[in-house]
Amino acid sequence: MPDVNGLSRRPVYMDHQATTPLDPRVLEAMLPYFTECFGNAASIDHEYGAEAGHAVAVAREQVSRIIGAAPDEIIFTSGATEANNLAILGAAEQYVDRGNHIITCVTEHKAVLDTCQYLERKGWQVTYVPVDHFGMVDPDVVRQAITPKTVLISIMTANNEIGTIAPVAEIGRLAHEHDVLFHTDATQAVGHIPVDVEDMSIDLLSLSAHKVYGPKGVGALYVRKRRPRVRLAEQQHGGGHERGMRSGTLNVPGIVGLGKALEIAGNEMEGEGQRLQVLRDRLWQGLQAELHDIELNGHPTQRLPHNLNVAIPGVESRALVVQLKHDVAISTGSACTTAKVEPSHVILSLGYGEERAHYAVRLSLGRGNSKDDVDLIRARLGVASRYLRRITLA
Ligand SMILES: *Cc1c(COP(=O)(O)O)cnc(C)c1O
Repeated sequence: MPDVNGLSRRPVYMDHQATTPLDPRVLEAMLPYFTECFGNAASIDHEYGAEAGHAVAVAREQVSRIIGAAPDEIIFTSGATEANNLAILGAAEQYVDRGNHIITCVTEHKAVLDTCQYLERKGWQVTYVPVDHFGMVDPDVVRQAITPKTVLISIMTANNEIGTIAPVAEIGRLAHEHDVLFHTDATQAVGHIPVDVEDMSIDLLSLSAHKVYGPKGVGALYVRKRRPRVRLAEQQHGGGHERGMRSGTLNVPGIVGLGKALEIAGNEMEGEGQRLQVLRDRLWQGLQAELHDIELNGHPTQRLPHNLNVAIPGVESRALVVQLKHDVAISTGSACTTAKVEPSHVILSLGYGEERAHYAVRLSLGRGNSKDDVDLIRARLGVASRYLRRITLA
């Protein structure tokens, strides 16, 4: 990061669940595909196209390996939003003969919730299963929601705000017992914790490069090809790329970056996860010492190693984030989706009332963070919270 005159240091970045910086190794892998290797991966008859096609094949292999899939089960997309749309809309359209019911969860990302609401307007029935105080979904509640008309269950692997990890393998198993397709938005999980489409009976899985130190604007959808073979109605027409499920010239540099990012994550995930968990726990303990009435949002143990989400009673989180913005970059929940300020639907769904959502801040750690960052944030957050409480009371 540029350190202008040594005077203005940039704030410590602790918002890695909104996006991650591009790993320099990923950038290096991508660069040739912007310049010399500019071919169209579909132009298979000459060297330029073949070169691009080969790079895409390597990336397909890298992406498939980290989730235990086969390369021909990977559909490249513009990100996880598109992957979620393609999974849900594509399955709904393809399998409409089987029924018109979908099961999802109240804490899903808007890319899933908005897509389900769109389908409701088109006559589909959607069950939004609730979560407990920790943001955990109960597989039994999912099972009870299944009807003969259920086509798809979509439950995220790990939550982007509170880091709670769902019992995905159990949900996958019961989906398959009932011949229902299982989609999971694994954008926050892949490259951070182990995910395996076989062990977890996953039929469709969304992921995104920019949450794992890859570039923005590229992601993938895993579409199961065997036991059962899943087909999706294409949601974008023109050319029949990606096995006819997602037309459009492939973003070769982006795809190369996604592959490289996941290769690196696969190699480093275990050690880095442990390192971040130690830092995260140090931060949580430090904040508890600073602010005695601070509360944890999300599950105490079944959570992503790099996520911390806390409620500081009496401290309005937006004011806190703004107060701290020269020192640290943190957020009130998910990255702003619109200009309007709304309390987080995830925190609201935990059943603690609306106040709690106004007091929630998310701290998400990543590769660039050190013990010094954690200690700095602990101190600054303590001071700023006490200050904001004082001026609110005054
Ligand atoms: C970031 C995120 C998305 C959206 O991914 P994009 O690639 O930015 O479209 C979807 N779901 C979850 C859980 C996310 O964290």
